[in-house]
Amino acid sequence: MAEKRDYYEVLGVSRDASDDEIKRAFRKLSKKYHPDLNKAPDAEAKFKEVNEAYEVLSDPQKRAAYDQYGHAGMDGAGAGNAGGAGGFGDFGGFGGFDDIFSSFFGGGNAQQSASSPRQGNDLQYRMDLDFKEAIFGKSTTISYNREATCETCNGSGAAPGTSPVTCHKCHGSGYVEVDRRTPLGMMRTREVCDVCGGTGKEIKEKCPTCHGSGHQSERHSVKVKVPAGVDDGQQMRLQGQGEAGSNGGPYGDLYIVFRVKPSRQFTRDGTEIYSSLNISFVQAALGDEIDVDTVYGPVKLKIPAGTQTDTSFRLRGKGAPKLHGNGAGDQHVKVRIVTPKSLNNKQREALEAFMNASGEHVQPQEGGFFNKIKDSFKGEK
Ligand SMILES: [Zn+2]
Ligand SMILES: [Zn+2]
Repeated sequence: MAEKRDYYEVLGVSRDASDDEIKRAFRKLSKKYHPDLNKAPDAEAKFKEVNEAYEVLSDPQKRAAYDQYGHAGMDGAGAGNAGGAGGFGDFGGFGGFDDIFSSFFGGGNAQQSASSPRQGNDLQYRMDLDFKEAIFGKSTTISYNREATCETCNGSGAAPGTSPVTCHKCHGSGYVEVDRRTPLGMMRTREVCDVCGGTGKEIKEKCPTCHGSGHQSERHSVKVKVPAGVDDGQQMRLQGQGEAGSNGGPYGDLYIVFRVKPSRQFTRDGTEIYSSLNISFVQAALGDEIDVDTVYGPVKLKIPAGTQTDTSFRLRGKGAPKLHGNGAGDQHVKVRIVTPKSLNNKQREALEAFMNASGEHVQPQEGGFFNKIKDSFKGEK
């Protein structure tokens, strides 16, 4: 950064110039360098310099601070020392020198960002998927409302054939100085320009479609390929499918968040799928081969003789596909051995024979009261 020029030098006045002299010098110079009137490449910089000098020298308090500490007292760098040097102790409760001036000379960053290209907002879209849609993925088209670049003015906000000009109120800075009453008396603070909204550009003839905003609402559709194996809560980014940027900035992104509906049959943990299966105690004792449902269709499962309840069997590769890479997880089938709730005479005799063959002695009990009622209803159906 170039060395800052002395404010008195900038305005071409002496150190003991009166308020009137300073005002007259400012008027003359600001007219001379106004970017709308002066097209020289350095006019805008000069104009800003003149404004900054006047800003300080027209304010008795700031002028006194400048006289005492120079530029060091104006920007953050020297502020700490200035405070320690005394003379500003009575600013107590206000946060000191640094805070007061940071609002005027808060750096060019804020100024730049107001009128520099900005990316548009990101959007979020919630997509509901069935359990199996999440497993297999799908191609679909989604539609949503978003702010798009106005087609009439191509985002400038100006009527066709016209273009935005430098804002007459803030002269392109995007900020204006406003007098505010503070504990120190009237102070100037910098606020976003109300004419241009901080863009530094003023639109004389507004675009008839967007009324100057440069944006228009649209119903936007986009094709989405949901990858096989997505899980509940995962999200996918579609670059540039969010909202239009400002000042020529790019579109934001769209984040699709997946919500996977639960299945009655399966539960899922990552790539693993879990299910349960009821088998009879005969199947458990003698063994069997039975059809088991998977998301890929039924498969045969061998139940070995002597299977205990809650035993889990693994069906390799029958889980959810892995998102990044080949293959899939497994399905885990937990068997539950179901005891018959009622027995016919033949079954009872067979079990008694079984009891005798095993050398067991049991004392058979009647089924519970509620079971009997439930079973009698079942019989009537
Ligand atoms: Zn427009
Ligand atoms: Zn403005």
